[in-house]
Amino acid sequence: MAELIQLTTSDSCLRWVKETQAAGMTVGLVPTMGALHEGHLSLVEHAQQHCDKVLVTIFVNPTQFGPNEDYNRYPRDLKSDIEKLQSIKTDVVFSPSVEEVYPSGDGTLVDVGPVAEPWEGKLRPGHYRGVATVVLKLMNLVPAELAFFGQKDYQQTLVIKQMVRDLHVPTKVVVCPTVRESDGLAKSSRNAYLSDVERQRALSLSKALQLVQSRYDDGIRDARLLESEATELIKATGGVVLQYFALLAPGTIEAVDIAESGVVAVVAAKVGKTRLIDNLILH
Ligand code: AMP
Repeated sequence: MAELIQLTTSDSCLRWVKETQAAGMTVGLVPTMGALHEGHLSLVEHAQQHCDKVLVTIFVNPTQFGPNEDYNRYPRDLKSDIEKLQSIKTDVVFSPSVEEVYPSGDGTLVDVGPVAEPWEGKLRPGHYRGVATVVLKLMNLVPAELAFFGQKDYQQTLVIKQMVRDLHVPTKVVVCPTVRESDGLAKSSRNAYLSDVERQRALSLSKALQLVQSRYDDGIRDARLLESEATELIKATGGVVLQYFALLAPGTIEAVDIAESGVVAVVAAKVGKTRLIDNLILH
């Protein structure tokens, strides 16, 4: 069985990609911040279906965290991540240092404009600038044919698509479905922060999304009514502070008045100190 190739320098990473492509093979890029779970691994599996070789990046990106956010305590466990990647036959893992990605004296940041402003962008100022910047860097270091991202971070997928389109990045963006726990909670590295009680409370996010789907199935189309029922469900759960719940037009950040198939219900809330997001495409 081929061993997982472990790279940490940008030179070795770019060289591997170029050699692989020169040998006639396509490369799939899966950017992550590590603390890998089945959501991340499903991205690798999608990449394996579409590309000859798959490279996973593990990099906790400092520029996408706000000053009062969890950069320092974000879960990091490279050894266990590598075992998980080996178990599903990933080809390469690239885990650079901060200095490797942000060489000293660097100054360039990528600002994608209005798509990054509302919702997450409003609550996490500068977050998407950090995301767009690091994803562009990774796409330059790993000029893959395809790059794979999770629907779990819906607005992030829009930000990345905007950046790729505006800056003529040749890599194509593929969005993969959200992987959930059996009770509906969206898998997230931050779920590790939750106590047992908080874990139960966190279920209110996916329950609220499911409620919107089932009320939509009942024939309700009034977005304000659907939002208010979902909001009530979350507010009735102790220990959860709702930040937003909204129904957005398909593939956009614009709130709708009327729900229809393809509309995306998005939610963000704090469960104790842990901030969680989730979303569901109405069908
Ligand atoms: P992160 O390590 O949290 O930055 O996530 C890396 C990638 O995995 C992003 O494209 C996320 O959207 C994706 N991802 C995170 N959680 C899930 C999930 N539960 N299902 C599918 N993709 C996910």
